[in-house]
Amino acid sequence: MRHLTVLSGGMGGAKFLQGLLHGIAAGTLPGVAPDATVTVIANTADDWWIHGLKVCPDLDTVMYTLGDGIDPERGWGRRAETWSAKEELAAYGVEPTWFGLGDRDIATHLVRTQLLDSGYPLSRVTQALCQRWLAPTYGERLTLLPMTDDRVETHVAIADPEAPSGRRAVHFQEYWVRLRAEVPAEQVVFVGLDAATPAPGVLETIATTDLLVLPPSNPVVSVGTILGVPGVRDAVRATTARVVGLSPIVGASHVRGMAEQMLTSIGVEVSAAGVGLNYGARANGGVLDGWLIDERDADQVSRLEAEGLRCAAVPLMMTDHDATAAMAAAAVSLVVDGAGPA
Ligand code: GDP
Ligand code: CA
Repeated sequence: MRHLTVLSGGMGGAKFLQGLLHGIAAGTLPGVAPDATVTVIANTADDWWIHGLKVCPDLDTVMYTLGDGIDPERGWGRRAETWSAKEELAAYGVEPTWFGLGDRDIATHLVRTQLLDSGYPLSRVTQALCQRWLAPTYGERLTLLPMTDDRVETHVAIADPEAPSGRRAVHFQEYWVRLRAEVPAEQVVFVGLDAATPAPGVLETIATTDLLVLPPSNPVVSVGTILGVPGVRDAVRATTARVVGLSPIVGASHVRGMAEQMLTSIGVEVSAAGVGLNYGARANGGVLDGWLIDERDADQVSRLEAEGLRCAAVPLMMTDHDATAAMAAAAVSLVVDGAGPA
């Protein structure tokens, strides 16, 4: 295999990609050439405008992580960050004050916003930003695409006794950052998704790739939104490549993040099997050929196989690059016949 494609959210997707690229370079992915190319199709429904700046959290987390600019403790934003601009904005009393905007990070948002204002689509702008972060290390071997150039925003309905309807919608960032996902998400709404068009290259990549991977990203607000861009789910169902996913739920927990809240809000069981069956087998109208789950959830393998999915249980904690590369190798072996163990 010479070309792999990954549908990614932010932190979970970025960590997986680090391990995947590590495994490709080390030649430990069965059947995958050491110079194989990788295309990342990233979620953009977490994006928003703040203080006049366009912020794309998942694109930036992937870009900074793979470009070695991420703050590893926080998992988002820039390493060695300072916060002067944020403090100054707060001193003016400008809301919102709860969103983290570091000085170094602001430079990225300024470049992006200026290019968008000049008329370039987000996909071209992302390509320009990646010239700094990805091209020096990966050259043509790694491409980062936004799922769409159109504006799509995830909003979350939460209870609000003072609102006439008893509920109110907040932007995904307000739900996640200000409210820390601590109140129930009564409904998740993807504003603009139905009218969005896949960014240039997205459908072509899915159609022509040798393997499509759904990493352990949030199945609702990351992978779910990518699949929700009109045309993408059909392209995944139609591709001649095998499609394999890795469970973001380990032992009924989301490890880190907010997948539990999101799954609950759409009525999906918070388990490896619940997520796998929600994606579904391509043979039964879904998007997956194989679903890799954690060894702790091994008792769910037969349930998944009965629904037409290839399934295996292996360690799925992304503790370091080697562990994550081993996950990627197991995912490849699961769906690629004759690839054998790495
Ligand atoms: P976000 O945009 O930053 O929320 O990142 P993603 O959507 O890409 O991924 C977030 C999800 O990754 C979390 O909800 C977890 O379910 C999952 N996750 C994070 N770390 C791990 C890990 O070590 N193993 C597994 N299996 N899943 C993980
Ligand atoms: Ca995200």
